[in-house]
Amino acid sequence: MGVASVDFVSEFEALTKQSAEAGDLAVCPRCEGQAIVHPPTGDGRLRTLTCGACGYSKRGAGQFRYWLRIECCGRVLWARNAAHLTLLERYIASDLRTEAMWPQESRDNRRMLPKWVCLARNRDKLLQAVALLRASLV
Ligand SMILES: [Zn+2]
Repeated sequence: MGVASVDFVSEFEALTKQSAEAGDLAVCPRCEGQAIVHPPTGDGRLRTLTCGACGYSKRGAGQFRYWLRIECCGRVLWARNAAHLTLLERYIASDLRTEAMWPQESRDNRRMLPKWVCLARNRDKLLQAVALLRASLV
């Protein structure tokens, strides 16, 4: 187990911020192309989904399918966007795959990164899956 360097932590923070600002890549419900669910703006919690491929737009995106999702180790590995994918990749490739290192918390207040992503024995498969996801970015 290594010790987190300041650079490592600040890179994580920068990527986390980028990821939050980028919105989530989603599968367009109309054309199945790559759409974006934008972060909520101003007052409301409603998020807008827009698709650059077919022009579909919906305010109040509701449930959507992540664009970046792939089966790995019998589970589904997913990422919100390119920055989030980089974050995952750095995390998986590092020797700091402890839950405490993961900077982002999910809504139910548990650490977002599941244990199977932290297991050293899954590392190679996970990095292959990340590479495949990166290749699927439009
Ligand atoms: Zn579309």
